[in-house]
Amino acid sequence: MLIDNHGRQINYLRLAVTDRCNLRCNYCMPSEGINFVQNDKLLTIPELKQVSEILVSQGIDKIRITGGEPFVRKDLMVLLRHLATLDGLKDISVTTNATLIGPHINELKALGIKNINVSLDSINRETFERITRRKQFDTVHDNLIRLITEGFNVRINFIVLEGQNEQDIIPILDVMKHHDVSVRFLEEMPFNGGSKNFKSIAWNYKAILEHIARAFPDYQKLESPKESTSINYKIKGHTGTFGIIPSFSRTFCGSCNRLRVTATGDVITCLYGKPKANLRDIIRGESSVEKVKETILKTIGSRAKTGFEAQNEHSNTVFDSSMTSIGG
Ligand code: SAM
Ligand code: SF4
Repeated sequence: MLIDNHGRQINYLRLAVTDRCNLRCNYCMPSEGINFVQNDKLLTIPELKQVSEILVSQGIDKIRITGGEPFVRKDLMVLLRHLATLDGLKDISVTTNATLIGPHINELKALGIKNINVSLDSINRETFERITRRKQFDTVHDNLIRLITEGFNVRINFIVLEGQNEQDIIPILDVMKHHDVSVRFLEEMPFNGGSKNFKSIAWNYKAILEHIARAFPDYQKLESPKESTSINYKIKGHTGTFGIIPSFSRTFCGSCNRLRVTATGDVITCLYGKPKANLRDIIRGESSVEKVKETILKTIGSRAKTGFEAQNEHSNTVFDSSMTSIGG
């Protein structure tokens, strides 16, 4: 079991499999993209398998595959097939923009991978294209509906962006009213590859909730697991639920159970902090398994208590990085 220096159990790994993406969401990266790393700097599939196996042996029982866009990686299913065989791994989930998942839906189902987060920041074609800078609305919409109707446990991630998509908050709840899906509204974080910097946000947790409450006064707060980052609600008459994730306000650090490994093998113990070690260099060296284990224990043994504390590790450049490199 992995326990950090503040007594928090770490059982959840967010594993980025690439920093590449076929969209250019404007809150995530500049239009020209970021300096994507060279191919040989990315963990290979055997290395991703090895890292996952080691971490599962240490007590990780939930892995979320993220990126970049995970399905940009042509060999992604090879990794997922392997993860599905790991004893001790209770939950495999994927976060995706749903542009490329279509051909893999049947196999994901067969592998028992049920939890899929789909990023969708607008239900309006023009707004979607303005935010993502790509014309993929129909594909994303069709794949989303397919995932829901095929019985996946689907959560929609909707980043609330001032001046861009606030007009879609209520419509997306209306459109999803009869679908068994959770719509999660996230506070915007300034991890956008240096596109813009901000110290406060208009659409924080409170503003989002008040906005929804005005349109749907008949809502109820739900019990959520202690380590959940979203505060969840149910609107009367809606099949699914909605949640709000205070990702910028960071009110959930006290129960954080997460560890991140980026596509280049960096170990990140807090989204807001600096990488603490690199596993790629270790597993490409000798006697790697024990060294990886030791490194993980060491990084988990010196975690910042909160995202605010972790942010102090940077002088003033914390937000130059992009979510496509960190994995969200
Ligand atoms: N490409 C996949 C996707 O978009 O779902 C997976 C990677 S993406 C980096 C993971 C999550 O991070 C997505 O839900 C995305 O919306 C979110 N994200 C990216 N940039 C963000 C930002 N600046 N603030 C808040 N969330 C962000
Ligand atoms: Fe790509 Fe996801 Fe970033 Fe959008 S949020 S650019 S889909 S990695």
